[in-house]
Amino acid sequence: CGIVGALSKTNCVPVLIDGLKKLEYRGYDSAGLAVQGDVDHRIQRARSVGRVAELETTAKGLQARVGIAHTRWATHGVPSERNAHPHISEGQGVTVTVVHNGIIENHEEVRQRLTSQGYVFLSDTDTEVIAHLTHQHLVSGKPLLAAVQATVAQLEGAFAIGVIADNSPGTIIAAKRGAPLLVGHGQGENFLASDASALVAYTKFISYLEENDVVELTHQSMRVFNAQGQLVERAVIESQLSA
Ligand code: GLU
Repeated sequence: CGIVGALSKTNCVPVLIDGLKKLEYRGYDSAGLAVQGDVDHRIQRARSVGRVAELETTAKGLQARVGIAHTRWATHGVPSERNAHPHISEGQGVTVTVVHNGIIENHEEVRQRLTSQGYVFLSDTDTEVIAHLTHQHLVSGKPLLAAVQATVAQLEGAFAIGVIADNSPGTIIAAKRGAPLLVGHGQGENFLASDASALVAYTKFISYLEENDVVELTHQSMRVFNAQGQLVERAVIESQLSA
């Protein structure tokens, strides 16, 4: 399983697909991606069961400079298109979408609470609670960074996540606890992935995230916050992997 995210100068879809192919060795049963429209910021999604090559076909025609992608190794809910990531939460004029590797241990209790508050679940995954919690914080007025910080504070378990929303143009928020995640530094481009092999074709300069880090990526900037919400520096290293 794996995650790729990109804020690229041109269409990010080939970057996402190529990155997922590099992560195929980690194993997976389905794949998906979501992009944020350059002009209207609308979230569009493509998902498919099986190989990344299938997703490549499904995603044909999608074009945008911001996107997140995922290969899934099902832990909660059978391998199927409806359980494939990214998962979406929408309503009150806000759409948010999430990719996740790992397991949310307290998903049942969170799901029950969100259901009683009116959220409708569209998948059998533990992941979907992350999308709805983030949505709830966004519609309460929090910016995406604060919404994800508040969400991860409500989660138990292991996760690497990537999040985009239509009310937060040009921004990806990612978070890491108990699952691998790193960021890649480009020039006017920034990236996110489970391991460096997915990114070295685009940049060799990477930073490994530490436990409970939350990171805000734009095309031009990268800000990492630790568990206490303090702005921190993470060392930039040059990957020795060849593209
Ligand atoms: N637990 C999540 C699911 O079953 C994520 C699995 C993964 O790490 O790919 O959808």
